[in-house]
Amino acid sequence: MQKITVLSGGMGGARFLQGLQHGIRTGTLPGVSPDAEVTVVANTADDLWIHGLKVCPDLDTVMYTLGEGIDLERGWGRSDETWSVKQELEAYGVESTWFGLGDRDIATHVVRSQMLEAGYPLSDVTTALCRRWQPGVRLLPMSDDRVETHVAIADEAEPSGKRVVHFQEYWVRLHAEVPALAVVVVGLDQSAPAPGVLEAIADADLVVLPPSNPVVSVGTILGVPGIRDALVATAAPVVGLSPIVGDTHVRGMAQQMLTAIGVDVTAAAVGVHYGARSDGGVLDGWLVDTSDAHHVAAVEAAGIACAAVPLMMTDHDATAAMAAEAIRLVRP
Ligand code: GDP
Ligand code: CA
Repeated sequence: MQKITVLSGGMGGARFLQGLQHGIRTGTLPGVSPDAEVTVVANTADDLWIHGLKVCPDLDTVMYTLGEGIDLERGWGRSDETWSVKQELEAYGVESTWFGLGDRDIATHVVRSQMLEAGYPLSDVTTALCRRWQPGVRLLPMSDDRVETHVAIADEAEPSGKRVVHFQEYWVRLHAEVPALAVVVVGLDQSAPAPGVLEAIADADLVVLPPSNPVVSVGTILGVPGIRDALVATAAPVVGLSPIVGDTHVRGMAQQMLTAIGVDVTAAAVGVHYGARSDGGVLDGWLVDTSDAHHVAAVEAAGIACAAVPLMMTDHDATAAMAAEAIRLVRP
């Protein structure tokens, strides 16, 4: 196996990719050659313009994590970060102080914003940024078009009884503590896959849905017109790993997002939500955690191969073992 394509969000996707790379390097992935190429199609619906800068949280989390520039403790942003710009902005009373941009991180957003203003598409900008970080994967945004996830929340002060906030405001400012009533992805229907995305799915030997958020990471990628069809049509097997373990998300806010779209917070419900490729869905195989072994039958009944294996990404070896199990499930 030479070409592996992964549809990724931020933290969950990046951790999985570290384990996948570790597995490739150490030769522990069945049938995968040591020089296998990994293409990452990253979610860009978390992106926002803030203080005049274009910020792409999921692209940057993947780039910094694989390029060893990530702050390991926070799981986002740059290591050895300082916060002078943030403090100065606060002193001016500039709004959106809830979104923390570190000084080092800002350099990335300045470079990106300048290139976008000069007319380069996000995919070219991402390639340029990766020249510095050398993430060891080909990193593609899902789309060069502006797509933004917004979340409807209850607000009694509004005549409609609700208010819509940017996904980042929901997550970073409100800590996903208020119930999400709906998820609206602005611009998704009109967006097009970035150059190389459809080819990376069509030409792959294996496509992986890592344990990323099924709604606001993988869900938005699948919503870019053409991408879901490419998954349905590819000759490569498509395998996913559940981000839900023991009926809850491990970290993040997948639970709130699933509830907002009416999908049960179980490993089985997420697998069935993605659906079997034999039935117009996107999966040939779905891994659930050992603690969710009782869900295997329901997934298999939906026409998806399923196995229960440890799915906690505690270290690179454990994550590489998850990747190996995913491959075994669809390429026995
Ligand atoms: P984000 O963009 O930073 O939210 O990252 P992703 O969308 O890529 O992944 C977030 C999701 O990863 C979380 O909501 C969890 O459900 C899942 N996750 C995080 N750590 C683990 C883990 O160790 N095991 C599993 N199975 N899922 C995890
Ligand atoms: Ca994200």
